[in-house]
This record gives sequence, structure tokens and C-alpha cells, in this order.
Amino acid sequence: MVEYKCFNCGKKIDSTTLRKRVRCIYCGSKILFKPRSIGTKVKAI
Ligand SMILES: [Zn+2]
Repeated sequence: MVEYKCFNCGKKIDSTTLRKRVRCIYCGSKILFKPRSIGTKVKAI
């Protein structure tokens, strides 16, 4: 299971929720990222 994170509000979203539309279900943002993807390390700001 892949888990995405909203860049805007920071909520976690399952890939199952994003079947067709890659969009945050909480705030509607289209900018999502994978916290665990290779080469993408995000430290708390
Ligand atoms: Zn969001």
C-alpha cells in the first residue's frame, strides 16, 4: 500500500483513495508526494 502526503495540509492519503484523481481529499490540493520514495527525504521544518 502506497501512502501519499499532501504538500499543502500534510495529511496522509492512501493510494486506494486516489484511484483516478490525484487530489487531496481534505483540502483539494493536487500537490502530493510520497514520504518514503527514494531520494526524497523530507525533514521537519
Ligand atoms: Zn491537503
